[in-house]
Amino acid sequence: MRASQSFLPLLKETPAEAELVSHQLLLRGGFIRRLASGLYTWLPLGLRVLRRVEQVVREEMDRSGAQEILMTVVQPAELWQESGRWDLYGPELLRLKDRHQRDFCLGPTHEEVISDLARREIRSYRQLPVNLYQIQTKFRDEIRPRFGLMRAREFIMKDAYSFHMDQASLEEGYRAMYEAYGRVFQRLGLDYRAVEADSGAIGGKRSHEFHVLADSGEDTIAFCRHCDYAANVELAESAQKEAASGSPAADAPTPVLVDTPGIRTVAAQAEHLGIEPSRIVKTILVLADERPLLLLLRGDDELNLVKTQRHLGCTHLRLATTEEAEEHTGAPVGFIGPRDLPPDLPVLADLRLRAVQDFSSGANRRDMHWLHLHWGRDLPWPERWADLRAVQAGDPCPRCASGHLEICRGIEVGHVFQLGTRYSEKLGVRVLDEGGREQTVLMGCYGIGVSRIVAATVEQSHDERGIVWPEALAPFQVGIVAINARKSPAVLAAAVELHDRLEAAGISTLLDDRDERPGVQFATLDLIGLPHRVVVSEKLLAQGMLEYRARRDTDHQLLAPEELWQRLQGAS
Ligand code: ATP
Ligand code: MG
Repeated sequence: MRASQSFLPLLKETPAEAELVSHQLLLRGGFIRRLASGLYTWLPLGLRVLRRVEQVVREEMDRSGAQEILMTVVQPAELWQESGRWDLYGPELLRLKDRHQRDFCLGPTHEEVISDLARREIRSYRQLPVNLYQIQTKFRDEIRPRFGLMRAREFIMKDAYSFHMDQASLEEGYRAMYEAYGRVFQRLGLDYRAVEADSGAIGGKRSHEFHVLADSGEDTIAFCRHCDYAANVELAESAQKEAASGSPAADAPTPVLVDTPGIRTVAAQAEHLGIEPSRIVKTILVLADERPLLLLLRGDDELNLVKTQRHLGCTHLRLATTEEAEEHTGAPVGFIGPRDLPPDLPVLADLRLRAVQDFSSGANRRDMHWLHLHWGRDLPWPERWADLRAVQAGDPCPRCASGHLEICRGIEVGHVFQLGTRYSEKLGVRVLDEGGREQTVLMGCYGIGVSRIVAATVEQSHDERGIVWPEALAPFQVGIVAINARKSPAVLAAAVELHDRLEAAGISTLLDDRDERPGVQFATLDLIGLPHRVVVSEKLLAQGMLEYRARRDTDHQLLAPEELWQRLQGAS
Protein backbone atom coordinates (compact mmCIF):
# COMPACT_ATOMS: atom_id res chain seq x y z
CA MET A 1 0.00 0.00 0.00
CA ARG A 2 1.27 3.47 -0.79
CA ALA A 3 1.17 5.93 2.08
CA SER A 4 0.56 8.87 -0.27
CA GLN A 5 -2.75 7.30 -1.27
CA SER A 6 -3.75 5.99 2.16
CA PHE A 7 -5.94 7.25 4.95
CA LEU A 8 -3.28 7.51 7.63
CA PRO A 9 -4.14 10.35 9.99
CA LEU A 10 -1.26 10.82 12.44
CA LEU A 11 -1.19 13.06 15.50
CA LYS A 12 1.89 15.04 16.44
CA GLU A 13 0.78 15.74 19.98
CA THR A 14 -0.16 13.15 22.55
CA PRO A 15 -3.92 13.51 23.13
CA ALA A 16 -4.62 14.77 26.62
CA GLU A 17 -7.38 12.25 27.31
CA ALA A 18 -5.06 9.26 26.85
CA GLU A 19 -3.39 8.05 30.05
CA LEU A 20 -2.04 4.71 28.92
CA VAL A 21 0.83 4.38 26.47
CA SER A 22 -1.19 2.01 24.29
CA HIS A 23 -4.03 4.48 24.06
CA GLN A 24 -1.65 7.32 23.20
CA LEU A 25 0.25 5.39 20.55
CA LEU A 26 -2.85 3.91 18.92
CA LEU A 27 -4.32 7.40 18.60
CA ARG A 28 -1.08 9.06 17.44
CA GLY A 29 -0.31 6.31 14.94
CA GLY A 30 -3.74 6.58 13.34
CA PHE A 31 -5.05 3.15 14.41
CA ILE A 32 -8.24 4.29 16.16
CA ARG A 33 -10.31 7.41 16.77
CA ARG A 34 -12.67 8.19 19.62
CA LEU A 35 -16.29 8.80 18.78
CA ALA A 36 -17.66 9.16 22.31
CA SER A 37 -16.85 7.75 25.73
CA GLY A 38 -15.81 4.11 25.29
CA LEU A 39 -16.65 4.12 21.57
CA TYR A 40 -13.90 3.90 18.97
CA THR A 41 -13.70 3.80 15.20
CA TRP A 42 -11.12 1.47 13.70
CA LEU A 43 -9.03 3.22 11.05
CA PRO A 44 -7.34 1.24 8.25
CA LEU A 45 -4.13 0.48 10.15
CA GLY A 46 -5.99 -0.50 13.32
CA LEU A 47 -8.44 -2.66 11.45
CA ARG A 48 -5.59 -4.58 9.84
CA VAL A 49 -4.23 -5.40 13.31
CA LEU A 50 -7.68 -6.34 14.60
CA ARG A 51 -8.23 -8.67 11.64
CA ARG A 52 -4.94 -10.40 12.33
CA VAL A 53 -5.91 -11.05 15.94
CA GLU A 54 -9.26 -12.38 14.75
CA GLN A 55 -7.55 -14.63 12.24
CA VAL A 56 -5.29 -16.29 14.79
CA VAL A 57 -8.21 -16.72 17.20
CA ARG A 58 -10.38 -18.16 14.43
CA GLU A 59 -7.74 -20.62 13.25
CA GLU A 60 -7.12 -21.95 16.74
CA MET A 61 -10.81 -22.19 17.54
CA ASP A 62 -11.43 -24.08 14.30
CA ARG A 63 -8.48 -26.34 15.01
CA SER A 64 -9.94 -27.16 18.43
CA GLY A 65 -13.11 -28.36 16.72
CA ALA A 66 -15.32 -25.39 17.57
CA GLN A 67 -17.61 -24.06 14.84
CA GLU A 68 -18.18 -20.42 14.01
CA ILE A 69 -21.63 -18.85 14.04
CA LEU A 70 -22.82 -15.26 14.30
CA MET A 71 -25.53 -14.30 16.77
CA THR A 72 -27.33 -10.97 16.92
CA VAL A 73 -26.23 -7.94 18.91
CA VAL A 74 -29.82 -7.06 19.86
CA GLN A 75 -31.36 -9.58 22.23
CA PRO A 76 -34.96 -9.92 23.45
CA ALA A 77 -35.53 -9.18 27.15
CA GLU A 78 -37.58 -12.39 27.61
CA LEU A 79 -34.46 -14.54 27.46
CA TRP A 80 -32.76 -12.43 30.09
CA GLN A 81 -35.85 -12.62 32.26
CA GLU A 82 -35.79 -16.40 31.97
CA SER A 83 -32.17 -16.58 33.10
CA GLY A 84 -32.84 -14.07 35.88
CA ARG A 85 -30.19 -11.68 34.60
CA TRP A 86 -32.58 -8.96 33.41
CA ASP A 87 -32.70 -7.87 37.05
CA LEU A 88 -29.27 -9.06 38.15
CA TYR A 89 -27.05 -7.60 35.45
CA GLY A 90 -27.50 -4.00 36.51
CA PRO A 91 -26.71 -0.83 34.59
CA GLU A 92 -23.94 -2.39 32.45
CA LEU A 93 -26.77 -3.86 30.38
CA LEU A 94 -27.94 -1.30 27.84
CA ARG A 95 -31.69 -1.74 27.51
CA LEU A 96 -33.87 -0.41 24.72
CA LYS A 97 -37.39 -0.65 23.36
CA ASP A 98 -38.51 -1.26 19.82
CA ARG A 99 -41.40 0.58 18.14
CA HIS A 100 -43.87 -1.82 19.75
CA GLN A 101 -42.52 -0.96 23.20
CA ARG A 102 -40.98 -4.41 23.54
CA ASP A 103 -37.86 -4.65 25.69
CA PHE A 104 -34.49 -5.55 24.23
CA CYS A 105 -30.86 -5.19 25.22
CA LEU A 106 -27.55 -4.89 23.45
CA GLY A 107 -25.65 -8.11 24.09
CA PRO A 108 -22.89 -7.81 26.68
CA THR A 109 -22.47 -11.60 26.35
CA HIS A 110 -24.50 -14.40 24.75
CA GLU A 111 -25.25 -17.20 27.24
CA GLU A 112 -29.00 -16.60 26.94
CA VAL A 113 -29.09 -16.49 23.16
CA ILE A 114 -26.92 -19.58 22.70
CA SER A 115 -28.97 -21.48 25.29
CA ASP A 116 -32.11 -20.60 23.38
CA LEU A 117 -30.54 -21.90 20.19
CA ALA A 118 -29.42 -25.08 21.91
CA ARG A 119 -32.79 -25.88 23.50
CA ARG A 120 -34.48 -25.57 20.13
CA GLU A 121 -31.94 -27.44 18.02
CA ILE A 122 -30.27 -30.06 20.19
CA ARG A 123 -32.43 -33.06 20.99
CA SER A 124 -30.18 -36.00 21.57
CA TYR A 125 -26.93 -36.95 23.28
CA ARG A 126 -25.72 -37.90 19.80
CA GLN A 127 -25.44 -34.21 18.93
CA LEU A 128 -23.12 -33.56 21.89
CA PRO A 129 -20.58 -32.38 22.73
CA VAL A 130 -20.63 -29.29 20.57
CA ASN A 131 -18.79 -25.97 20.80
CA LEU A 132 -20.07 -22.89 18.95
CA TYR A 133 -18.25 -19.58 18.80
CA GLN A 134 -18.51 -16.14 17.29
CA ILE A 135 -16.31 -13.09 16.89
CA GLN A 136 -18.58 -10.16 17.39
CA THR A 137 -19.35 -6.76 18.84
CA LYS A 138 -20.38 -6.59 22.49
CA PHE A 139 -21.82 -3.64 24.36
CA ARG A 140 -21.33 -3.08 28.08
CA ASP A 141 -22.22 0.25 29.60
CA GLU A 142 -19.07 0.20 31.75
CA ILE A 143 -19.19 2.50 34.76
CA ARG A 144 -15.74 3.83 33.93
CA PRO A 145 -14.82 3.34 30.29
CA ARG A 146 -11.13 4.15 30.04
CA PHE A 147 -7.76 3.37 28.56
CA GLY A 148 -9.13 3.39 25.04
CA LEU A 149 -9.72 -0.12 23.69
CA MET A 150 -8.79 -1.64 27.02
CA ARG A 151 -12.08 -0.90 28.74
CA ALA A 152 -14.41 0.26 26.03
CA ARG A 153 -18.19 0.16 26.00
CA GLU A 154 -18.39 -1.30 22.52
CA PHE A 155 -15.71 -3.90 21.86
CA ILE A 156 -15.00 -7.09 19.96
CA MET A 157 -15.04 -10.40 21.75
CA LYS A 158 -14.63 -13.98 20.71
CA ASP A 159 -17.12 -15.94 22.76
CA ALA A 160 -17.54 -19.68 22.62
CA TYR A 161 -20.08 -21.92 24.34
CA SER A 162 -19.84 -25.66 24.74
CA PHE A 163 -22.58 -28.18 25.61
CA HIS A 164 -22.02 -31.55 27.27
CA MET A 165 -23.84 -34.57 28.65
CA ASP A 166 -21.64 -34.98 31.72
CA GLN A 167 -18.89 -33.43 33.80
CA ALA A 168 -16.15 -35.54 32.22
CA SER A 169 -17.08 -34.26 28.78
CA LEU A 170 -17.26 -30.67 30.07
CA GLU A 171 -13.80 -31.02 31.51
CA GLU A 172 -12.47 -32.36 28.26
CA GLY A 173 -14.02 -29.45 26.37
CA TYR A 174 -12.66 -27.02 28.94
CA ARG A 175 -9.17 -28.44 28.58
CA ALA A 176 -9.38 -28.18 24.79
CA MET A 177 -10.25 -24.48 25.10
CA TYR A 178 -7.52 -23.90 27.69
CA GLU A 179 -5.00 -25.39 25.29
CA ALA A 180 -6.35 -23.46 22.30
CA TYR A 181 -5.99 -20.23 24.29
CA GLY A 182 -2.38 -21.08 25.06
CA ARG A 183 -1.73 -21.52 21.33
CA VAL A 184 -3.48 -18.23 20.51
CA PHE A 185 -1.44 -16.13 22.95
CA GLN A 186 1.76 -17.95 22.03
CA ARG A 187 1.21 -17.28 18.34
CA LEU A 188 0.40 -13.65 19.01
CA GLY A 189 3.83 -13.33 20.62
CA LEU A 190 2.50 -12.26 24.03
CA ASP A 191 4.04 -12.83 27.45
CA TYR A 192 1.02 -14.25 29.28
CA ARG A 193 -0.03 -16.41 32.22
CA ALA A 194 -3.07 -18.61 32.72
CA VAL A 195 -4.27 -17.90 36.24
CA GLU A 196 -6.81 -19.50 38.53
CA ALA A 197 -9.60 -17.02 38.83
CA ASP A 198 -12.63 -16.05 40.81
CA SER A 199 -15.55 -16.80 38.57
CA GLY A 200 -17.45 -13.96 40.23
CA ALA A 201 -21.01 -13.19 39.27
CA ILE A 202 -21.22 -15.45 36.24
CA GLY A 203 -21.46 -18.49 38.49
CA GLY A 204 -19.98 -21.92 38.05
CA LYS A 205 -17.11 -23.89 39.44
CA ARG A 206 -13.82 -23.68 37.66
CA SER A 207 -12.40 -20.78 35.78
CA HIS A 208 -9.09 -19.51 34.50
CA GLU A 209 -8.17 -16.08 33.27
CA PHE A 210 -5.46 -15.43 30.72
CA HIS A 211 -3.44 -12.35 31.49
CA VAL A 212 -0.91 -10.44 29.45
CA LEU A 213 1.77 -9.27 31.86
CA ALA A 214 2.09 -5.48 31.86
CA ASP A 215 2.67 -2.91 34.60
CA SER A 216 -0.41 -0.97 33.60
CA GLY A 217 -2.73 -3.97 34.06
CA GLU A 218 -5.82 -3.54 36.22
CA ASP A 219 -5.45 -6.99 37.79
CA THR A 220 -2.82 -8.30 40.17
CA ILE A 221 -1.47 -11.79 39.77
CA ALA A 222 0.62 -13.93 42.07
CA PHE A 223 2.77 -16.53 40.35
CA CYS A 224 5.63 -18.89 40.98
CA ARG A 225 8.63 -19.17 38.68
CA HIS A 226 9.43 -22.68 39.88
CA CYS A 227 6.14 -24.25 38.84
CA ASP A 228 3.04 -23.29 36.87
CA TYR A 229 1.14 -21.87 39.85
CA ALA A 230 -0.49 -18.54 39.00
CA ALA A 231 -3.60 -17.05 40.54
CA ASN A 232 -5.42 -13.77 40.63
CA VAL A 233 -4.44 -12.24 43.98
CA GLU A 234 -8.13 -12.25 44.79
CA LEU A 235 -7.77 -16.03 45.13
CA ALA A 236 -4.07 -16.66 45.62
CA GLU A 237 -2.94 -18.72 48.57
CA SER A 238 0.44 -19.36 50.04
CA ALA A 239 1.81 -22.47 51.69
CA GLN A 240 1.09 -22.42 55.41
CA LYS A 241 4.55 -23.14 56.72
CA GLU A 242 4.13 -21.88 60.26
CA ALA A 243 3.34 -24.71 62.67
CA ALA A 244 0.67 -24.10 65.28
CA SER A 245 2.22 -23.06 68.56
CA GLY A 246 1.70 -25.07 71.72
CA SER A 247 0.82 -23.83 75.20
CA PRO A 248 2.85 -20.95 76.58
CA ALA A 249 5.84 -21.76 78.78
CA ALA A 250 5.35 -21.48 82.54
CA ASP A 251 7.55 -18.39 82.70
CA ALA A 252 5.90 -16.62 79.70
CA PRO A 253 5.11 -12.97 80.53
CA THR A 254 1.59 -12.36 81.81
CA PRO A 255 -0.85 -9.89 80.20
CA VAL A 256 -0.37 -6.20 80.85
CA LEU A 257 -2.83 -3.43 80.08
CA VAL A 258 -1.09 -0.41 78.63
CA ASP A 259 -2.28 3.13 77.96
CA THR A 260 -2.28 3.90 74.27
CA PRO A 261 -4.04 7.25 73.91
CA GLY A 262 -5.12 7.90 70.32
CA ILE A 263 -3.19 4.85 69.03
CA ARG A 264 -5.59 3.34 66.51
CA THR A 265 -3.49 1.79 63.76
CA VAL A 266 -1.21 -1.23 63.73
CA ALA A 267 1.73 0.95 62.69
CA ALA A 268 1.20 3.39 65.53
CA GLN A 269 0.67 0.55 67.99
CA ALA A 270 3.90 -1.19 66.89
CA GLU A 271 5.88 2.01 67.26
CA HIS A 272 4.34 3.06 70.55
CA LEU A 273 4.80 -0.37 72.14
CA GLY A 274 8.12 -1.16 70.46
CA ILE A 275 6.96 -4.49 68.98
CA GLU A 276 6.86 -5.99 65.50
CA PRO A 277 3.52 -5.71 63.61
CA SER A 278 3.69 -9.50 63.22
CA ARG A 279 3.10 -9.74 67.00
CA ILE A 280 -0.07 -7.68 66.86
CA VAL A 281 -3.50 -9.23 66.33
CA LYS A 282 -5.72 -6.90 64.38
CA THR A 283 -9.47 -7.11 64.25
CA ILE A 284 -11.78 -6.24 61.40
CA LEU A 285 -15.54 -6.29 61.71
CA VAL A 286 -17.32 -7.35 58.53
CA LEU A 287 -20.93 -7.94 57.63
CA ALA A 288 -21.56 -11.24 55.86
CA ASP A 289 -25.00 -10.96 54.30
CA GLU A 290 -25.51 -8.22 56.91
CA ARG A 291 -24.60 -10.50 59.83
CA PRO A 292 -21.64 -9.31 61.95
CA LEU A 293 -18.43 -11.34 62.04
CA LEU A 294 -15.13 -10.40 63.62
CA LEU A 295 -12.02 -11.30 61.61
CA LEU A 296 -8.61 -11.63 63.24
CA LEU A 297 -5.38 -11.23 61.28
CA ARG A 298 -1.72 -10.75 61.93
CA GLY A 299 -0.88 -7.05 62.09
CA ASP A 300 1.37 -7.19 59.04
CA ASP A 301 -1.22 -9.00 56.89
CA GLU A 302 -4.00 -7.52 54.78
CA LEU A 303 -7.49 -8.94 54.56
CA ASN A 304 -8.52 -10.49 51.23
CA LEU A 305 -12.27 -9.94 51.03
CA VAL A 306 -12.83 -12.15 47.96
CA LYS A 307 -11.16 -15.18 49.50
CA THR A 308 -12.99 -14.59 52.76
CA GLN A 309 -16.32 -14.33 51.00
CA ARG A 310 -15.69 -17.58 49.14
CA HIS A 311 -14.77 -19.29 52.38
CA LEU A 312 -17.96 -18.06 54.03
CA GLY A 313 -20.09 -18.85 51.01
CA CYS A 314 -22.11 -15.66 51.49
CA THR A 315 -23.54 -13.44 48.77
CA HIS A 316 -22.34 -10.07 50.08
CA LEU A 317 -19.41 -9.30 52.29
CA ARG A 318 -18.46 -5.79 53.32
CA LEU A 319 -16.47 -3.93 55.92
CA ALA A 320 -18.58 -2.54 58.75
CA THR A 321 -18.80 1.22 59.20
CA THR A 322 -17.35 2.72 62.39
CA GLU A 323 -20.82 2.93 63.92
CA GLU A 324 -21.65 -0.67 63.04
CA ALA A 325 -18.31 -1.92 64.40
CA GLU A 326 -18.81 -0.10 67.70
CA GLU A 327 -22.39 -1.26 67.98
CA HIS A 328 -21.57 -4.97 67.48
CA THR A 329 -18.36 -5.12 69.56
CA GLY A 330 -19.25 -2.57 72.22
CA ALA A 331 -15.74 -1.16 71.87
CA PRO A 332 -14.31 1.92 70.15
CA VAL A 333 -12.76 1.35 66.71
CA GLY A 334 -8.98 1.19 66.98
CA PHE A 335 -9.18 -0.54 70.37
CA ILE A 336 -11.18 -3.67 69.52
CA GLY A 337 -9.51 -6.95 70.47
CA PRO A 338 -10.27 -10.69 70.75
CA ARG A 339 -10.30 -10.82 74.56
CA ASP A 340 -13.61 -10.13 76.35
CA LEU A 341 -15.81 -9.81 73.30
CA PRO A 342 -19.63 -10.01 73.44
CA PRO A 343 -20.27 -13.80 73.64
CA ASP A 344 -22.65 -13.89 70.67
CA LEU A 345 -20.21 -12.23 68.25
CA PRO A 346 -18.74 -14.91 65.93
CA VAL A 347 -14.99 -14.82 65.30
CA LEU A 348 -12.96 -16.13 62.36
CA ALA A 349 -9.18 -16.11 62.58
CA ASP A 350 -6.55 -16.23 59.86
CA LEU A 351 -4.48 -19.42 59.84
CA ARG A 352 -1.22 -17.53 60.31
CA LEU A 353 -2.33 -16.53 63.80
CA ARG A 354 -2.00 -20.14 64.98
CA ALA A 355 1.73 -19.59 65.29
CA VAL A 356 1.48 -16.22 67.07
CA GLN A 357 1.77 -16.14 70.85
CA ASP A 358 2.74 -13.34 73.25
CA PHE A 359 0.90 -10.77 71.16
CA SER A 360 -0.66 -7.35 71.55
CA SER A 361 -4.24 -6.41 70.68
CA GLY A 362 -6.91 -3.86 71.47
CA ALA A 363 -8.40 -4.15 74.97
CA ASN A 364 -11.99 -3.26 74.01
CA ARG A 365 -11.60 -0.08 76.07
CA ARG A 366 -10.84 3.38 74.81
CA ASP A 367 -7.11 4.20 74.64
CA MET A 368 -5.98 0.80 75.96
CA HIS A 369 -4.19 -2.21 74.48
CA TRP A 370 -3.06 -5.55 75.84
CA LEU A 371 0.53 -6.80 75.79
CA HIS A 372 1.69 -10.44 76.27
CA LEU A 373 -1.57 -12.20 75.43
CA HIS A 374 -1.39 -15.97 74.85
CA TRP A 375 -4.02 -18.15 73.17
CA GLY A 376 -5.19 -20.94 75.44
CA ARG A 377 -4.09 -19.13 78.59
CA ASP A 378 -5.46 -15.57 78.54
CA LEU A 379 -8.20 -16.11 76.00
CA PRO A 380 -9.57 -19.23 74.29
CA TRP A 381 -8.16 -20.36 70.93
CA PRO A 382 -10.52 -19.15 68.19
CA GLU A 383 -12.87 -21.91 67.09
CA ARG A 384 -12.92 -21.07 63.38
CA TRP A 385 -9.85 -20.64 61.20
CA ALA A 386 -9.40 -19.90 57.51
CA ASP A 387 -7.02 -18.43 54.99
CA LEU A 388 -8.11 -14.78 55.00
CA ARG A 389 -4.97 -12.86 54.12
CA ALA A 390 -3.81 -11.37 50.84
CA VAL A 391 -0.64 -13.09 49.68
CA GLN A 392 2.56 -11.07 49.57
CA ALA A 393 5.59 -11.27 47.30
CA GLY A 394 8.05 -13.78 48.70
CA ASP A 395 5.39 -16.02 50.31
CA PRO A 396 6.08 -19.74 49.85
CA CYS A 397 4.34 -21.18 46.79
CA PRO A 398 1.28 -23.27 47.72
CA ARG A 399 1.92 -25.77 44.91
CA CYS A 400 5.60 -26.56 44.79
CA ALA A 401 7.95 -27.00 47.68
CA SER A 402 10.72 -24.72 46.57
CA GLY A 403 9.26 -21.62 44.91
CA HIS A 404 8.25 -18.24 46.23
CA LEU A 405 5.45 -16.09 44.93
CA GLU A 406 6.04 -13.04 42.80
CA ILE A 407 3.37 -10.43 42.26
CA CYS A 408 2.85 -8.59 39.00
CA ARG A 409 0.15 -6.74 37.09
CA GLY A 410 -1.83 -8.30 34.29
CA ILE A 411 -4.36 -7.38 31.63
CA GLU A 412 -7.14 -9.94 31.32
CA VAL A 413 -7.38 -10.95 27.68
CA GLY A 414 -9.23 -14.22 28.01
CA HIS A 415 -11.43 -16.15 30.38
CA VAL A 416 -12.64 -19.75 30.44
CA PHE A 417 -15.48 -20.93 32.70
CA GLN A 418 -17.21 -24.15 33.55
CA LEU A 419 -20.77 -22.93 33.84
CA GLY A 420 -22.32 -26.27 34.69
CA THR A 421 -26.12 -26.03 34.58
CA ARG A 422 -26.37 -22.34 35.60
CA TYR A 423 -28.05 -21.38 32.31
CA SER A 424 -29.21 -24.70 30.91
CA GLU A 425 -31.40 -25.29 33.97
CA LYS A 426 -33.02 -21.85 33.90
CA LEU A 427 -33.59 -21.93 30.16
CA GLY A 428 -34.43 -25.62 29.99
CA VAL A 429 -31.69 -26.92 27.70
CA ARG A 430 -32.47 -30.64 27.91
CA VAL A 431 -31.63 -33.54 25.66
CA LEU A 432 -32.41 -37.26 25.62
CA ASP A 433 -29.66 -39.49 26.98
CA GLU A 434 -28.83 -43.03 25.80
CA GLY A 435 -31.63 -44.45 27.90
CA GLY A 436 -34.17 -42.03 26.39
CA ARG A 437 -34.40 -39.92 29.57
CA GLU A 438 -34.32 -36.12 29.50
CA GLN A 439 -31.21 -34.58 30.98
CA THR A 440 -30.12 -31.01 31.56
CA VAL A 441 -26.90 -30.35 29.67
CA LEU A 442 -23.71 -28.88 31.15
CA MET A 443 -22.17 -25.77 29.62
CA GLY A 444 -18.83 -24.06 29.37
CA CYS A 445 -18.17 -20.55 28.12
CA TYR A 446 -14.95 -19.09 26.84
CA GLY A 447 -14.18 -15.44 26.00
CA ILE A 448 -11.28 -13.64 24.39
CA GLY A 449 -11.05 -9.85 24.34
CA VAL A 450 -10.09 -9.51 20.70
CA SER A 451 -9.97 -5.71 20.63
CA ARG A 452 -8.42 -5.53 24.10
CA ILE A 453 -5.56 -7.71 22.82
CA VAL A 454 -4.62 -4.94 20.38
CA ALA A 455 -4.13 -2.50 23.27
CA ALA A 456 -2.55 -5.09 25.57
CA THR A 457 0.03 -5.93 22.91
CA VAL A 458 1.05 -2.29 22.66
CA GLU A 459 1.33 -2.04 26.44
CA GLN A 460 3.71 -4.95 26.38
CA SER A 461 5.59 -4.08 23.22
CA HIS A 462 6.64 -0.47 22.69
CA ASP A 463 9.62 1.82 23.19
CA GLU A 464 10.15 5.57 23.40
CA ARG A 465 9.75 5.88 19.62
CA GLY A 466 6.48 4.04 19.30
CA ILE A 467 4.84 0.64 18.89
CA VAL A 468 6.88 -2.52 18.26
CA TRP A 469 4.38 -4.95 16.74
CA PRO A 470 5.12 -8.67 17.00
CA GLU A 471 5.24 -10.10 13.46
CA ALA A 472 1.96 -11.91 13.98
CA LEU A 473 0.02 -8.68 14.59
CA ALA A 474 1.77 -6.04 12.50
CA PRO A 475 -0.51 -4.16 10.12
CA PHE A 476 2.25 -4.48 7.49
CA GLN A 477 5.41 -6.54 7.76
CA VAL A 478 7.65 -4.16 5.86
CA GLY A 479 7.81 -0.38 5.60
CA ILE A 480 9.75 1.12 2.71
CA VAL A 481 10.99 4.67 3.07
CA ALA A 482 11.48 6.22 -0.35
CA ILE A 483 13.66 9.27 0.25
CA ASN A 484 12.75 12.23 -1.90
CA ALA A 485 10.50 10.10 -4.06
CA ARG A 486 8.71 13.15 -5.42
CA LYS A 487 11.89 14.49 -6.92
CA SER A 488 13.64 11.27 -7.89
CA PRO A 489 11.85 9.03 -10.39
CA ALA A 490 14.62 6.44 -9.95
CA VAL A 491 14.01 6.17 -6.20
CA LEU A 492 10.26 5.94 -6.67
CA ALA A 493 10.61 3.30 -9.38
CA ALA A 494 12.98 1.17 -7.29
CA ALA A 495 10.77 1.51 -4.21
CA VAL A 496 7.61 0.62 -6.13
CA GLU A 497 9.33 -2.38 -7.67
CA LEU A 498 10.43 -3.65 -4.28
CA HIS A 499 6.96 -3.01 -2.86
CA ASP A 500 5.28 -4.93 -5.68
CA ARG A 501 7.69 -7.83 -5.41
CA LEU A 502 7.17 -8.14 -1.65
CA GLU A 503 3.40 -7.91 -1.99
CA ALA A 504 3.45 -10.54 -4.75
CA ALA A 505 5.32 -12.82 -2.36
CA GLY A 506 2.60 -12.33 0.26
CA ILE A 507 4.65 -9.95 2.42
CA SER A 508 2.43 -6.99 3.25
CA THR A 509 4.26 -3.72 2.65
CA LEU A 510 3.62 -0.05 3.26
CA LEU A 511 5.54 2.25 0.93
CA ASP A 512 6.11 5.70 2.39
CA ASP A 513 6.21 7.80 -0.78
CA ARG A 514 4.80 10.90 0.91
CA ASP A 515 6.25 14.30 0.25
CA GLU A 516 7.86 14.51 3.69
CA ARG A 517 11.32 15.02 5.12
CA PRO A 518 13.21 11.75 5.77
CA GLY A 519 13.13 12.45 9.53
CA VAL A 520 9.35 12.55 9.45
CA GLN A 521 9.19 9.37 7.40
CA PHE A 522 11.47 7.50 9.81
CA ALA A 523 9.57 8.75 12.84
CA THR A 524 6.28 7.64 11.27
CA LEU A 525 7.49 4.10 10.65
CA ASP A 526 8.88 3.88 14.18
CA LEU A 527 5.59 5.15 15.60
CA ILE A 528 3.41 2.67 13.73
CA GLY A 529 5.82 -0.12 14.59
CA LEU A 530 6.28 -2.20 11.43
CA PRO A 531 8.77 -5.03 12.08
CA HIS A 532 11.05 -4.35 9.06
CA ARG A 533 12.19 -1.07 7.50
CA VAL A 534 13.90 -0.65 4.16
CA VAL A 535 15.29 2.68 2.93
CA VAL A 536 15.67 3.52 -0.76
CA SER A 537 17.58 6.67 -1.71
CA GLU A 538 19.59 7.99 -4.64
CA LYS A 539 22.79 7.56 -2.69
CA LEU A 540 22.00 3.95 -1.83
CA LEU A 541 20.94 3.18 -5.40
CA ALA A 542 24.24 4.56 -6.66
CA GLN A 543 25.97 2.02 -4.38
CA GLY A 544 23.66 -0.76 -5.51
CA MET A 545 22.48 -1.12 -1.93
CA LEU A 546 19.39 -0.84 0.28
CA GLU A 547 19.34 0.00 3.96
CA TYR A 548 17.63 -2.43 6.29
CA ARG A 549 16.67 -2.17 9.96
CA ALA A 550 14.51 -4.37 12.15
CA ARG A 551 12.17 -2.33 14.40
CA ARG A 552 13.60 -4.00 17.47
CA ASP A 553 17.19 -3.10 16.57
CA THR A 554 18.99 0.21 16.79
CA ASP A 555 21.54 -0.41 14.04
CA HIS A 556 20.86 -0.62 10.34
CA GLN A 557 22.68 -2.62 7.71
CA LEU A 558 23.44 -2.04 4.06
CA LEU A 559 22.32 -4.99 1.98
CA ALA A 560 22.38 -5.80 -1.70
CA PRO A 561 18.85 -6.28 -3.06
CA GLU A 562 19.18 -10.09 -3.15
CA GLU A 563 20.49 -10.19 0.42
CA LEU A 564 17.58 -8.06 1.52
CA TRP A 565 15.21 -10.39 -0.27
CA GLN A 566 16.67 -13.36 1.61
CA ARG A 567 16.30 -11.47 4.86
CA LEU A 568 12.64 -10.69 4.31
CA GLN A 569 11.61 -14.13 3.13
CA GLY A 570 9.46 -15.67 5.77
CA ALA A 571 8.09 -12.36 7.03
CA SER A 572 4.35 -12.55 6.66
P1 ATP B 1 -13.17 -7.35 33.30
O1 ATP B 1 -12.88 -8.00 34.62
O2 ATP B 1 -11.95 -6.78 32.64
O3 ATP B 1 -14.33 -6.40 33.34
P2 ATP B 1 -14.94 -9.44 32.50
O4 ATP B 1 -14.71 -10.46 33.53
O5 ATP B 1 -16.11 -8.55 32.60
O6 ATP B 1 -13.61 -8.54 32.34
P3 ATP B 1 -15.64 -11.41 30.49
O7 ATP B 1 -17.09 -11.23 30.68
O8 ATP B 1 -15.00 -12.66 30.94
O9 ATP B 1 -14.86 -10.13 31.08
O10 ATP B 1 -15.32 -11.14 28.96
C1 ATP B 1 -14.34 -11.86 28.21
C2 ATP B 1 -13.21 -10.96 27.76
O11 ATP B 1 -13.68 -9.77 27.13
C3 ATP B 1 -12.36 -10.45 28.90
O12 ATP B 1 -11.38 -11.40 29.25
C4 ATP B 1 -11.74 -9.20 28.32
O13 ATP B 1 -10.56 -9.52 27.61
C5 ATP B 1 -12.78 -8.71 27.34
N1 ATP B 1 -13.50 -7.53 27.87
C6 ATP B 1 -14.38 -7.50 28.90
N2 ATP B 1 -14.84 -6.26 29.10
C7 ATP B 1 -14.24 -5.47 28.17
C8 ATP B 1 -14.31 -4.08 27.85
N3 ATP B 1 -15.10 -3.26 28.53
N4 ATP B 1 -13.55 -3.62 26.83
C9 ATP B 1 -12.75 -4.44 26.13
N5 ATP B 1 -12.65 -5.77 26.37
C10 ATP B 1 -13.37 -6.28 27.38
MG1 MG C 1 -16.37 -6.60 33.31
